[in-house]
Amino acid sequence: MPLEMADLLVGTLLFIALVIGWMLGKSERKKPVVTDTVTPLGKEYFQGLNLLLNEKQDEAMELLLKTLDVNRDTFDTYLVMGTLYRRRGEVDRSIRIHQDLLARPNISKLQQSTVRLELARDYLKAGLLDRSERLLKELAEEAGANQVVALEFLLSINELENDWKAAVQTAEKLAAKGKQVAVNLAHYHCEQAQHCMQVGDLVEARRELKDALHADRNCVRASLLQAELETQAGNEKEAIKALRRVLEQDPDYIPETLPLLRQNYEKAGQLVELRKFLFTCLEQHPVISVVIELSTLVQQLEGDKAGAYVLSEYLKKRPTVRGLDRLIQYHMDNTDGPARENLGLLQAFTQRLIQDKPVYRCGKCGFNGKTLHWQCPTCKTWSSIKPIHGIEGE
Ligand SMILES: [Zn+2]
Repeated sequence: MPLEMADLLVGTLLFIALVIGWMLGKSERKKPVVTDTVTPLGKEYFQGLNLLLNEKQDEAMELLLKTLDVNRDTFDTYLVMGTLYRRRGEVDRSIRIHQDLLARPNISKLQQSTVRLELARDYLKAGLLDRSERLLKELAEEAGANQVVALEFLLSINELENDWKAAVQTAEKLAAKGKQVAVNLAHYHCEQAQHCMQVGDLVEARRELKDALHADRNCVRASLLQAELETQAGNEKEAIKALRRVLEQDPDYIPETLPLLRQNYEKAGQLVELRKFLFTCLEQHPVISVVIELSTLVQQLEGDKAGAYVLSEYLKKRPTVRGLDRLIQYHMDNTDGPARENLGLLQAFTQRLIQDKPVYRCGKCGFNGKTLHWQCPTCKTWSSIKPIHGIEGE
């Protein structure tokens, strides 16, 4: 069925539903009087249907809003109609329906707050973030069935506006209502810490990071930011402590800690300690990034042969393209002539395979990318994106 036909059909069905609801409401109001006559279809019904069939939706809607009653039978249909218009991008029409509903004196308090929630959605769709936010703030203050929905919606707007201070406040209100928002809350503090670091306010940044870990002690991002901050400040010990914490928090993110681990251990003159720690990481969470880092370190401390040995032993158990690429490099460095040329051809192949592959994936919606986003750009979940595992990944 073509799209316009489908739209017309849905519009017509909604119209009929409204008229039936209206008639039901009417017959209910007349209940005490027993009558045998069937209520005839009103003049408005045929007029409205005719307008819809002629695709004069505006006029049909005007007629509907002017002539039909909003009662408990038609209220939901009006709501569905508003949602339908909004989904089709016709926000003017959905706003018109919702504002008209609000002006009706006979709707209940709950119905009124439901309509205001819908109106907030209309404003968001229309790009009127301020108006949407204002409405949601009012709804979030009112105790009632829609309060939590309003708070959750408000939180998504705080995130859209990058208003992390407001996001903290909203999330805390949701937490007080028993909602699980610890992961989000920690990220809002991290966002603020990141801002403080950009403007050089390290004291405030440290405080925000402490709050982040207080909200969610498994917040890897807070540990990574803390490590970044302490590296900048020249506190190797503190940086190393924060980075080592990631192994307990979520070992999937260990690859993210490697460059700063190396930098700080090197500065502290404790590369042997680093070797020990990387072996511990491998025992608990064998991934190729750690293997490559460890084999490079072993190569530095004990020579080429020892480095290549660490890598090849691991690859026997868990082959990956990145590991193979690195092994080829080791042999190229120690080979001359045609053998080196052939290894070069092989490496061109492995590097192309690595180049085209995404590195991170969202565990919730499957979004792929080469950058680590703390909030998935597609499904907006926090901490759902992780390094990809398997033969082409970690
Ligand atoms: Zn996602």
